Amino acid sequence: MLNDEAAAGHADLEAELRERVRAFLAEHPPAQLARQDFLNARFDAGLGYVHYPQGHGGLGLPRSLQPVLEAELAAVGAPDIDGRLNVIGLGMAAPTLIACGSAEQQARWLRPLWTCEEIWCQLFSEPGAGSDLAGLATRAVPDGDDWVVSGQKVWTSLAHRARWGLLLARTDPDVPKHAGLTYFVIDMHQPGVEVRPLRQATGEAEFNEVFFTEARVPDANRIAGIGDGWKVANATLMNERVAIGSSRAVAREEGTIGFATAAWRQHPERRTPELQQRLLALWARAEVARLAAERLRQQLAAGEPGPEGSAAKLVFALLNQDIAGWEVDFNGAEGLRYDDWTMRRDSSSDYARGPGFRYLRTKGNSIEGGTSEILRNIIAERVLGLPPEPRADKDIAWKDLPR
Ligand SMILES: Cc1cc2nc3c(=O)[nH]c(=O)nc-3n(C[C@H](O)[C@H](O)[C@H](O)COP(=O)(O)OP(=O)(O)OC[C@H]3O[C@@H](n4cnc5c(N)ncnc54)[C@H](O)[C@@H]3O)c2cc1C
Repeated sequence: MLNDEAAAGHADLEAELRERVRAFLAEHPPAQLARQDFLNARFDAGLGYVHYPQGHGGLGLPRSLQPVLEAELAAVGAPDIDGRLNVIGLGMAAPTLIACGSAEQQARWLRPLWTCEEIWCQLFSEPGAGSDLAGLATRAVPDGDDWVVSGQKVWTSLAHRARWGLLLARTDPDVPKHAGLTYFVIDMHQPGVEVRPLRQATGEAEFNEVFFTEARVPDANRIAGIGDGWKVANATLMNERVAIGSSRAVAREEGTIGFATAAWRQHPERRTPELQQRLLALWARAEVARLAAERLRQQLAAGEPGPEGSAAKLVFALLNQDIAGWEVDFNGAEGLRYDDWTMRRDSSSDYARGPGFRYLRTKGNSIEGGTSEILRNIIAERVLGLPPEPRADKDIAWKDLPR
């Protein structure tokens, strides 16, 4: 809750924003501009995501003002982006580029990223490095003004749509594993990059294996210093957890709990006292999670995401799975039917598809973006200050580690 003074400040900002949007619309009438031109102009005017910094598609305003901007634009039928097309670009690549990229890199990539002309993917996980991400083996070797990349990534969501990839690669095998990593932006449309679909339990193939065979990355696409990859990767991961756990304001009973309550209202004949007790408990947990995520978003307006985002993501995953489990039980024999096993290559999971899909897809929630076990470790160490996990390999060069 905002106190009186803060609420008055917020109202002033809202009024200023409305005025700015109206002035922008007067200068850029949506009916007279091509969609892409309108979106480009919107980004340049700081009316992309209002919480992005000035000069980067935003105005440095609280995230809570984004719906005000969107309502003003929708009222005149102005085009908007479909953020679901570029979840990794918007949720992870943009904050990473804003925090760690050079001015040239920001100018090159941020606008087409925000307008979703260029889709992004995240090339972190490997067959031998997921939770232990710093153990990754994909090598980048310098060659003139380029780096030559060879290795394999896995579980790469959207690689089949991506123009650019956020790549974490090993540039020095002779130092302890965290110190030998460098962060790049790699062009996914080049020889030496092969993307193969991986089909998941839902029948879809949201993600892929990606093979690099002497693919090239110009040094100009390196984000931050050589050896600084771990630091930059952490900026991406903190934003990923916030993006998964609490990215946007949701209304009461929106999201997976909304599917459950709708089913409850629609089918009185399926109700039992036991299912009612479970639903009430889930409803209360969903509401606590929603309000906690709102508080986190307000804290974020004032700074970078910290380890607290891990808690939001942990809660989101457990809750989604429990709600999806309740729905399957509530639907009885019907709940065991699955709608369609066709392999799709969707860019975003459509949770509205049905309870069977939700049950299977939410299983991935406690793995993607860091497993629940790893998030508990982060919360224990960095939020609660408990003793860290013993790490025997801390000072050993990566190449000397057993694999
Ligand atoms: C839907 C989906 C989308 C994904 N998209 C991407 C993507 O776009 N890009 C990308 O790079 N990756 C992506 N991933 C991969 C994801 O980040 C990894 O799967 C995850 O980090 C876990 O790594 P792993 O699969 O290698 O499991 P492992 O690290 O091998 O873990 C196996 C099990 O051991 C547990 N464990 C491991 N270490 C510890 C420890 N220290 N303490 C306690 N328990 C531990 C884990 O919690 C887990 O239960 C995606 C995954 C999913 C499910």
